[in-house]
Amino acid sequence: MSTPQEILQMIKDQGIQMIDLKFIDMPGTWQHLTVYYDQIDESSFVDGVPFDGSSIRGWKAINESDMAMVLDPTTVWIDPFMEEPTLSILCSIQEPRTGEPYARCPRVIAQKAVDYLKATGIGDTAYIGPEAEFFIFEDVRYDQTENKGYYYVDSVEGRWNSGREEVGGNLGYKPRYKEGYFPVPPTDTLQDIRTEMLLTMAKCGVPIEKHHHEVATGGQCELGFRFAELVKAADYLMTYKYCIKNVAKKYGKTVTFMPKPLFNDNGSGMHTHQSIWQDGQPLFWGDGYANLSQTALWYIGGLLKHAPALLAFTNPTTNSYKRLVPGFEAPVNLAYSQGNRSASIRIPLSGSNPKAKRLEFRCPDATSNPYLAFAAMLCAGIDGIKNQIDPGEPLDKDIYDLSPEELALVPSTPGSLELALKALEEDHEFLTAGGVFTPDLINTWITYKLDNEVNPMRLRPHPYEFALYYDV
Ligand code: GLU
Ligand code: MG
Ligand code: MG
Repeated sequence: MSTPQEILQMIKDQGIQMIDLKFIDMPGTWQHLTVYYDQIDESSFVDGVPFDGSSIRGWKAINESDMAMVLDPTTVWIDPFMEEPTLSILCSIQEPRTGEPYARCPRVIAQKAVDYLKATGIGDTAYIGPEAEFFIFEDVRYDQTENKGYYYVDSVEGRWNSGREEVGGNLGYKPRYKEGYFPVPPTDTLQDIRTEMLLTMAKCGVPIEKHHHEVATGGQCELGFRFAELVKAADYLMTYKYCIKNVAKKYGKTVTFMPKPLFNDNGSGMHTHQSIWQDGQPLFWGDGYANLSQTALWYIGGLLKHAPALLAFTNPTTNSYKRLVPGFEAPVNLAYSQGNRSASIRIPLSGSNPKAKRLEFRCPDATSNPYLAFAAMLCAGIDGIKNQIDPGEPLDKDIYDLSPEELALVPSTPGSLELALKALEEDHEFLTAGGVFTPDLINTWITYKLDNEVNPMRLRPHPYEFALYYDV
């Protein structure tokens, strides 16, 4: 389905009464407004459908709240979770008075990043392939009696004592600690639910590829879809999360994309594969290290140089930094390597196929807003290419095996959201160059994250502090 006329005709032919308009807020959650079919016409795809934007997180003040959702005709599917046949359409936001794209709309920012790539003459397409991991839990509760004020999770794989290696016991088919990747059923109890998640997202237009259990034993999973052009990849990622959460809900379970829900077990990342193309030709293939082109090496230089600031968008929650620690396959050091999964940038094997040549940035997680995260990574890469930033030597040893002296020479990821936001405050020209991110958006992001996440976390007594200090 591609033109507004075709969509309006389909609504008529199929007698669809409800149209669900979805858009992304600044922190990264889909919001929606459902309208009767006679409320949209061809102008809805140009001038948009008006709504009140004053209560949307990070957006307009109450005295200037009028906004418009502009329907994207390439993002249409029947919503599989609604009883009444309902057509879902993704929207970008624009200023109704001027008709300008809204500078705080993440989907607008993602499109601007692609436009900037074209304007530099470097390439015309950025391909992105995100791999978002997640946990399926029975429920998450707050239990004051049994758990002394801890939030705890009921794992679908049995009540799981996170991080405790079970010795000498019969596990009754439960996966062993760190061995969730990936025995067949009955150890894997999540096969059917993952299949339903994957097939449901195919109905929503996502080009599906695979699904599997992941390493952590609390019910960690990953589904895979094909890489896509940057804005489309972010649309798919949002559809991915929507389908996964709603299928889980149908089964009476919950899903979390929190990067580190279980102490002392693997966390959930969103490794992001990326490459740039021009006129249908891949630009990352060449005769440098790991068959990378000079362009790709400079792109890596940009990602590594700006990583501390970049992480404010790709790893934007206080929980993100509990994942970026040694020992759980998550990256800690800012380096690149072919095949080495302990480096924050990995160059996957691509055989002799130039079209498969790409890099995998392993830092991001799925608490990020994918539109902002993908746009920020592309901007860092473009900055690397424009300024010919040398990424230095690759790090082919396992980073976890380096001596303290060797390790001291490798820069690390920031240790907290607060530090990443500080880095962003000091280093954001690569994002504002080309007008992709506005200074207003950067400031709003930093203030929003400090006021709503960093400071509220800092002010609360942590459950573990009771273990440490209660009896002192
Ligand atoms: N769960 C790991 C992470 O936090 C990644 C495991 C994998 O390589 O798939 O990044
Ligand atoms: Mg994985
Ligand atoms: Mg990966």
